[in-house]
Amino acid sequence: MIKAVIFDLDDTLYYELDYVKSGFRAVSRYISSKYGVSEEEFYQLQLDILEMEGLGKVFDLTLENFSLPLDEVERMLAVYRSHIPEGIQLYEDAEYILKKLKREKKYKTGIITDGNSLVQWNKIKALSLIDLVDEIIVTDDFGIDKRKPAPFAYLKLLETFQIQAGEAVYIGDNPLKDFIGARKLGMKTIRVLREEGMHIEKRMIAEYEADKEIYSLYALKELLKFDVGEGKDA
Ligand SMILES: [Mg+2]
Repeated sequence: MIKAVIFDLDDTLYYELDYVKSGFRAVSRYISSKYGVSEEEFYQLQLDILEMEGLGKVFDLTLENFSLPLDEVERMLAVYRSHIPEGIQLYEDAEYILKKLKREKKYKTGIITDGNSLVQWNKIKALSLIDLVDEIIVTDDFGIDKRKPAPFAYLKLLETFQIQAGEAVYIGDNPLKDFIGARKLGMKTIRVLREEGMHIEKRMIAEYEADKEIYSLYALKELLKFDVGEGKDA
């Protein structure tokens, strides 16, 4: 019997690109106010470079293109990481299911997310997730080596909830790291395939993939065997 439902954050509960865009906006404001370049042009170029080259090269290449000092990268990174995200929101199905789980209190709920601690906690606050789930673990708070698929965070939540691995389900989007660690422990896993997700194209060998695949978190209603006929949303 499932007793706990644990989620990934990025691209599982909200669209990560919205956060990236919000960060680029903040960086553009900073650069524009310092060097007088067009905020909008700087922003748009960052987006273009993101699409062509990926996140890792955006700041360097955008600076280069504007003939600005490359040593700004570190300050840009600091602005990006510390900015308060604007315009990010939970996916409709994520908000629905989290509120339903909270209201019905049948399952313990949690989030396990990797990434820079400041960044992840800013997202969590902007999405008001602290009030919506029982436990949140940002793995970087405990060390980069604790990132998924390391067993650390899964085990920590199982212990907190006082349940066995087989009584928990982990729901994520990225087959590179979301499922293999959880599965090795004996947890159930579900992959959400969102059309716009960064990892939708990724296909891995079976042990990296989840037990089940769904196209939206509304499907959890059925999978978790919610009682029908109670509450407004049933
Ligand atoms: Mg994710």
